[in-house]
Parts: sequence; C-alpha cells; structure tokens
Amino acid sequence: MATETHSIFTAKNINDILYHIKTVNNLQVIGGATYIGDLPEKSLTIRNVPELKIIDKHERYIDFGPAVTLNSIINVGKNFLPAVLYEAITQMANHSIRNMATIGGNIMAKDSRLTLIAPLIALGTTLKFKAQKSSEIIPLSKFTVIPEDSVLISIRIPTEDWNVSIFRRLGSSRMISDNSASFCFLAMTEKNILTNLKICFSGPFIFQSQELETRYLGSRLPLSKSTIQDFISIAEKEFDDYVRDKENTLMLKKQFLNLVASSLHELT
Ligand SMILES: Cc1cc2nc3c(=O)[nH]c(=O)nc-3n(C[C@H](O)[C@H](O)[C@H](O)COP(=O)(O)OP(=O)(O)OC[C@H]3O[C@@H](n4cnc5c(N)ncnc54)[C@H](O)[C@@H]3O)c2cc1C
Repeated sequence: MATETHSIFTAKNINDILYHIKTVNNLQVIGGATYIGDLPEKSLTIRNVPELKIIDKHERYIDFGPAVTLNSIINVGKNFLPAVLYEAITQMANHSIRNMATIGGNIMAKDSRLTLIAPLIALGTTLKFKAQKSSEIIPLSKFTVIPEDSVLISIRIPTEDWNVSIFRRLGSSRMISDNSASFCFLAMTEKNILTNLKICFSGPFIFQSQELETRYLGSRLPLSKSTIQDFISIAEKEFDDYVRDKENTLMLKKQFLNLVASSLHELT
C-alpha cells in the first residue's frame, strides 16, 4: 500500500519480511506504531505475521513473538507471568494503546526510558534474530543493533520464582516523557540466605551493576542495618562511577538510592 510520500509494506510470514528487508532500502519494521507516531517513508508492518504473534509457555520461560500486543501479554494471566512484567504492563498507557502496542516495539524503539526495559533486563530476557540462513540469540542487556539482514523473531523471558519482586516507575504515569524511568529489584532466597539478586534502573541510561548484584549473595536475612548501609554506599559508588561522564544525574541517583533502600527493607 502507498500514500503520496509513504510506502507501507505488509508481510505474511518471516520469509516475506526477510525478502523485504533485503530488497527495500531504508525499510523500517514497525509494530503498532504507537511509539513512532508518524510513519516513516518506508515501513513494513509485521502485525499480521502469525509466527510473530505466538505466545509459547514453557516450564522455565515464556517466548513471545515481537508482534504480541501488551494486552495479549496481560491476558496470559497474572499467575503465569513474572510479577514485575505484569505490573509494568498494567501501568503502561491505556487499554486502547495496549491493544496496538507490541512488546517488540517497546524493545526495538531502543529508548531506555520505556517501561519494560528494566524489568526485562532484570529478568534475563534474550532476543532471537533470524536471517535467511542463520539465527542469533542476544541477551537484551547486551543488545545494541539488529544483526544484518535479520528480523527479531522471539523474545524469551525466564519465569523463575523470585521471592521479592519490585517494580517502580518514575516520572509521568501512563505516558513516556523526558523524566520517565523504571526500576526493578528481584531477589531469590533460600533458608533465609540471599541466593540471587538482580537490580536494573532504566531511564536516560540503563544502569545495572554486577558488583552490587553479587557482593551480598550468601548474606543472612534480614540484612542488618550496617549491611544495608554498606550496600547503599556501594550502590552510590557504582552509580557515581557509571554516570561520571553524564549530565544531570543527581536527582536520578537520589531516586535510585531511595528505591534500593526501600527494596532492601523488603528483604526479610
Ligand atoms: C498515549 C500513549 C501512552 C504511552 N505510554 C507508554 C508507557 O507508559 N510506557 C511505555 O513504555 N511506552 C508507552 N507508550 C509508547 C508505546 O505505546 C510503547 O512503547 C509500545 O510498546 C511501542 O510498541 P509499538 O508496537 O507501537 O512500536 P512501534 O511504534 O511500531 O515501533 C517502535 C520502534 O521499534 C521498531 N520496531 C517495532 N517493532 C519492531 C520489530 N518487530 N522489529 C524491529 N523493529 C521494530 C520501529 O521501527 C520503531 O523504531 C505510549 C504511547 C502512547 C501513544
């Protein structure tokens, strides 16, 4: 389909998409077009490709096709989804936007202020890309660009049981603005011992610290006052190191440290 200045291509299957990507210059793949607003000059909508709308539940993870809408994820049911994912999605936009907006669009917009980035990274999400003759799996935390002539075909989200799952969004509610950010804190415990910890803050930049996530593993719960103080000092140092060359980070640091402190108090 074409308007005077825009060409909108459609695809029926993944091979169709690969063909279009290879043969049309500057083609932009789009989902629900709720983030981009104005259509680019040449776009390829993937919303009608059945393989990309699949939701496949397994014992330890769920695979979502990138064209799965946010409401379809909610419809999977609270009990079958990681708590932070369900909470994050229900706090996004409104019902009609969520009917069009896709999980793929949220990730591929590559805007770290978007609501799902922190929970998806903390959960250990991986992205599967397919080219004509090969495929590649990239952790979301390491994703920068789509491999050449490839299409995102699946988003794998681990569904481990976290004993503490905290999601908070900052800034305007139900829309994205300059001050939008998200925070995710996940902890696993066994016999009052902290066994796994994931913390991700995602706003103007994405902050995750391996040092912070591993240093206190093995600690007995509840954490003592001095351990919490210690933890927050390390969090501050790690954050400061990360934002050294960035501007206007003081408020973000305060918000991050407050969220870390309140989350640590939930670790009982
Ligand atoms: C009123 C309103 C409120 C909103 N509130 C929120 C909110 O609270 N939180 C939030 O995070 N967002 C919000 N959004 C933004 C948007 O709805 C979501 O980010 C949504 O998930 C984007 O998905 P989409 O399918 O519409 O993406 P699109 O707009 O279609 O695409 C976004 C980008 O990703 C690329 N892309 C999309 N799909 C693919 C794919 N499969 N492969 C490769 N590239 C792809 C596109 O080329 C484009 O660059 C809001 C939007 C509106 C209009």
